Amino acid sequence: LREKIRDLEQSFSQKYPPVKFLSEKDRKRILITGGAGFVGSHLTDKLMMDGHEVTVVDNFFTGRKRNVEHWIGHENFELINHDVVEPLYIEVDQIYHLASPASPPNYMYNPIKTLKTNTIGTLNMLGLAKRVGARLLLASTSEVYGDPEVHPQNEEYWGHVNPIGPRACYDEGKRVAETMCYAYMKQEGVEVRVARIFNTFGSRMHMNDGRVVSNFILQALQGEPLTVRIYHFCTFIRRLRTSGVYGSGAQTRAFQYVSDLVNGLVLLMNSNISSPVNLGNPEEHTILEFARLIKSLVVSRSQIQFLPEAQDDPQRRRPDIRKAKMLLGWEPVVPLEEGLNKTIQYFSRELEHQANNQYI
Ligand code: NAD
Ligand code: UDP
Ligand code: UDP
Repeated sequence: LREKIRDLEQSFSQKYPPVKFLSEKDRKRILITGGAGFVGSHLTDKLMMDGHEVTVVDNFFTGRKRNVEHWIGHENFELINHDVVEPLYIEVDQIYHLASPASPPNYMYNPIKTLKTNTIGTLNMLGLAKRVGARLLLASTSEVYGDPEVHPQNEEYWGHVNPIGPRACYDEGKRVAETMCYAYMKQEGVEVRVARIFNTFGSRMHMNDGRVVSNFILQALQGEPLTVRIYHFCTFIRRLRTSGVYGSGAQTRAFQYVSDLVNGLVLLMNSNISSPVNLGNPEEHTILEFARLIKSLVVSRSQIQFLPEAQDDPQRRRPDIRKAKMLLGWEPVVPLEEGLNKTIQYFSRELEHQANNQYI
């Protein structure tokens, strides 16, 4: 009880978010690589508030201190500026391995570094897991399915990836990372969990990361045209000119809100499922539908501008989440519009913050 009161006092006196009391035997030492990024910082919040000891390791390539600054100084929290491509020697019980750029412009910016992070970085974290007997959860991706020929994508599907295309550094990097997890599991007995994460959005996404949700919200808030990339661009435009209808040429995605993902990651880590599990929201929309929805939620007068598709852009993507539902009892609960509204509010505040700081 004394410890509980002390934790509460600390939370109040230092204005940390409220932290649950966990007894020594339930409290885990948890490493989150990439914990200063978008998903990692929300995971940090959940695990800290659940009462665990959290160490965030990040090289701040796409993450930032501001995402976790509200924990700095808390006795259960540690932030280490470190690149996972270099070995790391610490003592932990669980590793959430998220370190890797995630948005296409970010991971294509330095493909060699993306490859090193996903291969050497993952090898190092598996070596660490092996030495200390920790369980490792890999943040893998729906990109391992590439431009899929199976729809929706279930975990049995082996994927359709161009190994030498512009997205390969990320897609193949994650595929090797998965391979490494299972090699360490089989050969060295390391406990692994593999989450295949589908498109995720929410607060703390980087405003300029070039992903579709951030682009559209920013464009809508700033009155700029919403840039919709269209599959089979020429056919699409021809149809639009001759019949005035958009047709179905647009590619699709399904977006989950970040709090749903974080709950799924924690459930998976603490489950006994070592094979890959999809985590995503199965509600599928065309990119054009997203553009229209965001435009209406922002109440923006922005135009919609059509651009040709990006190279090797997957045409359809939607998770089959029956495995997560059946084995983890998990499914997304945040409706798309609710998540988008929260994200729009976050982006508006960020724009305000930027504008205010310009004049200081
Ligand atoms: P993010 O870019 O916000 O976070 C990645 C974090 O990793 C950043 O803080 C970055 O600085 C850090 N990092 C990158 N390289 C590193 C290195 N070599 N050493 C240490 N830290 C490094 O991206 P996110 O959206 O939060 O993605 C987190 C993880 O989830 C990634 O592994 C990503 O592949 C995976 N994922 C995300 C999505 C999504 O839609 N957000 C979808 C599928 C998979
Ligand atoms: N490693 C690490 N932290 C550790 C243990 C290992 O970063 O606590 C790294 C180590 O530098 C090595 C990698 O993980 O490059 C793989 O380790 P493993 O023990 O499997 O390989 P070995 O050291 O035998 O080559
Ligand atoms: N996209 C778009 N306009 C943009 C950014 C992206 O139409 O300004 C499209 C992109 O071509 C892809 C989809 O939106 O088909 C999702 O892209 P994102 O980069 O968010 O993630 P991906 O799922 O491709 O990794």
